[in-house]
Amino acid sequence: MGSRARTTIELGDSLERVLGGKSARALESALGLSTVGDLLRHYPRRYAERGELTDIAGLELGEHVTVLARVDRVSGRKYRGNPGARRGGHILEIVITDGHRSLTCAFFNQQWRERDLRPGRTGLFAGKVSSFRGKLQLTHPEYQLLESDGDLSRLEEFAGALLPVYPAAQGLPSWSIARCVRQVLDTWDGLDDPMPEELRERLGVDRLDGALRRIHRPDGWADVEAARKRLKWDEALAVQLVLAQRKHWAVHRPAPACPPRPGGLLDAFDARLPFRLTDGQREVGAAIEADLSGAHPMNRLLQGEVGSGKTVVALRAMLQVIDAGRQAAMLAPTEVLAAQHARSLRELLGDLGRAGELDAAEQATKVVLLTGSMSTAARRQALLDIASGAAGIAVGTHALIQDRVSFADLGMVVVDEQHRFGVEQRDALRARAGEDASPHVLVMTATPIPRTVAMTVYGDLEVSALRELPAGRSPIHTAVVPAGEKPGWLERAWQRIREEVAAGHQAYVVCPRIGDSAGEEDSGDEPAEAEAGRRPPLAVQEVAPMLESGPLAGLRVDVLHGRLSPDGKDAVMRAFATGEVDVLVATTVVEVGVNVPNATVMVIMDAERFGVSQLHQLRGRVGRGDAPGLCLLVTDMPEGTASRDRLDAVAATLDGFELARLDLEMRREGDILGAAQSGRRSGLRMLSLLRDEDVIAAARTVAQEIVGEDPYFATYTGLARMVTELVDPEGAEYLEKT
Ligand code: ADP
Ligand code: MG
Repeated sequence: MGSRARTTIELGDSLERVLGGKSARALESALGLSTVGDLLRHYPRRYAERGELTDIAGLELGEHVTVLARVDRVSGRKYRGNPGARRGGHILEIVITDGHRSLTCAFFNQQWRERDLRPGRTGLFAGKVSSFRGKLQLTHPEYQLLESDGDLSRLEEFAGALLPVYPAAQGLPSWSIARCVRQVLDTWDGLDDPMPEELRERLGVDRLDGALRRIHRPDGWADVEAARKRLKWDEALAVQLVLAQRKHWAVHRPAPACPPRPGGLLDAFDARLPFRLTDGQREVGAAIEADLSGAHPMNRLLQGEVGSGKTVVALRAMLQVIDAGRQAAMLAPTEVLAAQHARSLRELLGDLGRAGELDAAEQATKVVLLTGSMSTAARRQALLDIASGAAGIAVGTHALIQDRVSFADLGMVVVDEQHRFGVEQRDALRARAGEDASPHVLVMTATPIPRTVAMTVYGDLEVSALRELPAGRSPIHTAVVPAGEKPGWLERAWQRIREEVAAGHQAYVVCPRIGDSAGEEDSGDEPAEAEAGRRPPLAVQEVAPMLESGPLAGLRVDVLHGRLSPDGKDAVMRAFATGEVDVLVATTVVEVGVNVPNATVMVIMDAERFGVSQLHQLRGRVGRGDAPGLCLLVTDMPEGTASRDRLDAVAATLDGFELARLDLEMRREGDILGAAQSGRRSGLRMLSLLRDEDVIAAARTVAQEIVGEDPYFATYTGLARMVTELVDPEGAEYLEKT
């Protein structure tokens, strides 16, 4: 130990060197922390205050929690085993409380713990939340008791007023992490600050090493606040620097200029448009027209609720590009949607979209669909039309630009449904036509995006929005069906479907999983969670036959999911659209864009498995016609869990922006730059996209100044280091390219 203390420690040093093998291995395997920097950036989740208990609310099943609580009741009993299977034994049940809510801790065959865990004693309890008979429970939690007189503490970390509580894992409780942090800090000399002193002074932030010390060992709340401020600034600034550079790079690339051509295809289209564009459509249209005319690429995000008329805006932009002698590509997240887009573009264009056919209008163009699994002949023809330039518009999934499809002259790419399309894909796309020019890019999303997210994730895009809907829509009513507590309500849900079908309407039943083997598409958005104690999510292939032979017997039920062949999917969608199918049991393939106005009810099974925005998108499928829509969120989650609260919130509002905010709150904010998908950790730990709008906006201004003055950070080597350290390498990838 003594000799270690005298060597300087760098953030990049391995923990093994400082802590020794055993602790280092535990931190690595439980939390993936391998360097001194990893550990110092493993910030306390919160702080327990002497004399205050942790609020036991909003716990999530499967979550690892640490609570400071008081033992309320203790009871022990014997249970008998069943012959041949389990042996009998003893259960010790300790009910702990925060003064309002309580949580049961169960110990099997550990009567002796009764000596320690006496009513009235206070301690830290850590374990994974499970559910037993509808109540939340910790099984065999780890714990550390405080001395009961409250004066002396057995936890040396509780010497100050604030005890850091760390994100912990089974076998590595918060107090062990605290001990390791203390050991590192005791021998750490600090570091060269990546932020130049005059910038620190201007922003009024502390040195980084001081902030790192105080976040772990604060003397009081003022220390915590000051430390948080500095750490947030680093994160906000690192992200904004990346985005400012990205924008700098994108904006300075050449792009095919596509000025409007009077008397062209766009004018012909406008002349026969059966409705007046809304003011929003006009305004956005004008901005896009100007963007496309320029010699640098457009990078624009178009937000607008489902039905706000985004497709028309996109089509008008594509026609301007075609008028300039180039092609446009439109990308959708699934093959079903791509096919639907191709259909609706052809419909909107009428004879203006039938080039090569007998009844084509003068100057008509051609819309081709290209999907991965078309027949070879059809695919060859589509590829030919795209390569020769005969197709003005090519519609497909992302494979359309990821594969080596060659376009005669690609001028613009429209991407539908932003939330599947991240920063890296946008870069791939810009590089794509990329020989010497980048295509113009228009990204469309029906998910409202809070300002902070727009500034962070889409900070490299200009943002426009369509706020008004062209025509009145029917209201959607949403209710939570607690199938665990009230099985009768689920019966009632099936009965509602029967009633709607009897009235000539149709219904969706959505499940989180396809069934059989592990599908890819259906589990796409689900966090990799420890499933201990939870049944597998309901599957389309199990629910459909159950309904057909049970509660929905006699109705025409069919299934739709990602493992059907494209033709199969198309056939099912068509049958549903024409009313030959009453009830469609599906995965989230129906989430976006699917448009069947006659469908009025949607029942979502295991609703807690879906994200808030996803649920909002899903229910947008009903109430598209004259009749009001009904969406039922079925869940087994017990009352009092965070999942259940979230569903109640979705049921309570139709306000997309409010829901987007909620979604953000639920998601691990740190994963916002795409680290979740790649499995790597990103640098956003302290910054909250919900609460730190001020810091983010200020960091954006500062970053733009810096990049404007020194785009490659030649004089800001510390900041360059900070960017690489804090931002996911994938997100910063282009840094190396330049
Ligand atoms: P989004 O793509 O935003 O969900 P769409 O572009 O598909 O919305 O538009 C929804 C429907 O409204 C379509 O049938 C479209 O033809 C129609 N529509 C679009 N703009 C207008 C408008 N200005 N007035 C009337 N109907 C419109
Ligand atoms: Mg649309």
